[in-house]
Amino acid sequence: MPAQSKPKRPATLIPGDGIGPEIVKSAVDILEALGSPFEWDIQQGGLAAIEESRDPLPQATLDSIRRTRLALKGPLTTPVGGGFRSINVRLREEFGLYANLRPVRSMVPGGRFDEIDIVLVRENLGGLYVAFEHYIPIGEDPHAVAISTGVNTREGSRKIIEFAFDYALKNGRKKVTVVHKANVLKALTGIFLEVGHEVAKKYEGRVKMDDRIVDATAMQLVMNPWQFDVIVTTNLFGDILSDQLAGLVGGLGMAPGANIGPDAAIFEAVHGSAPDIAGKGIANPLALLLAVGLMLEHIDQPDLANRLRAAIDQVLRKDGVRTPDLGGKASTGDFTQSIIRRL
Ligand code: NAD
Repeated sequence: MPAQSKPKRPATLIPGDGIGPEIVKSAVDILEALGSPFEWDIQQGGLAAIEESRDPLPQATLDSIRRTRLALKGPLTTPVGGGFRSINVRLREEFGLYANLRPVRSMVPGGRFDEIDIVLVRENLGGLYVAFEHYIPIGEDPHAVAISTGVNTREGSRKIIEFAFDYALKNGRKKVTVVHKANVLKALTGIFLEVGHEVAKKYEGRVKMDDRIVDATAMQLVMNPWQFDVIVTTNLFGDILSDQLAGLVGGLGMAPGANIGPDAAIFEAVHGSAPDIAGKGIANPLALLLAVGLMLEHIDQPDLANRLRAAIDQVLRKDGVRTPDLGGKASTGDFTQSIIRRL
């Protein structure tokens, strides 16, 4: 065994539903070729788990994540009806996954812009997503008025904004933009902006800070996206802007995501289980591979992450090997082998 080899780090692997097992196999094969630092504990989730244990998020899977504190997850099909709660929301709550990391980078021609490299950090637990909602009936109409209450706390805002600044520092990024709507939602998002300025003081001289109103951000992302580096924002704005960002570089098919908290970090592709192409061998593993890159950074293996990303860039740009969703002819297996050759 070479002297420098490190012990492997236990990590939970959830193959998931639909194309999940196909793209997870691709990721695992590529990681093996890269010198995987992970020792997988394979667990079920989604439809695959319901067949075995009647729960799309079985206790054994939760126990595994609690033990390893690290998971790579294929897309899960949330069953329609049957009263199942969203698996992703359950995972967020169970492990306090307060930070949703959504980086986007131009990788293939076909996106609207080249040379985009932006990281969006979304607050994952609060805001208007806590869904304290109710109706007020008037006369015959039980739904005459709908009311929704959002919750942002100073503590929650501080945690996510510090996360964004720490991420910027660790990854050599220069600026964090705090996105809000403090001119109208003066309390709910005003507190977020206020904390943004407080936190920025601690990082003065190391990371710059500016702030923008969410509607102006949406416009600027289309007019001049290159001005952004790291964006940090509240739950609902983050949900919307992260999809807009993905659209700038070619769509959700290439978007990775990480959900990070004090007790665990879960990495995944943003897209779903794509039942329409499951089993055909043509699924694009790119988003999950980029999620693997985030996972490698998370465990302080940036060199492995960089090697993986460099191989992906070469295969897409130089070799021109692409799966059908990106206009190519490669199967999932061909694409995987091309990456392995470039590592
Ligand atoms: P989807 O993302 O699965 O598919 C949308 C379209 O994109 C389909 O045409 C699909 O073929 C294509 N596509 C998606 N990923 C692809 C890939 N890697 N390679 C090639 N083409 C790809 O969205 P949907 O159809 O709305 O959802 C299907 C299921 O996935 C639903 O049950 C939904 O609940 C679930 N879902 C899960 C997650 C998750 O686990 N993170 C996220 C979104 C949706």
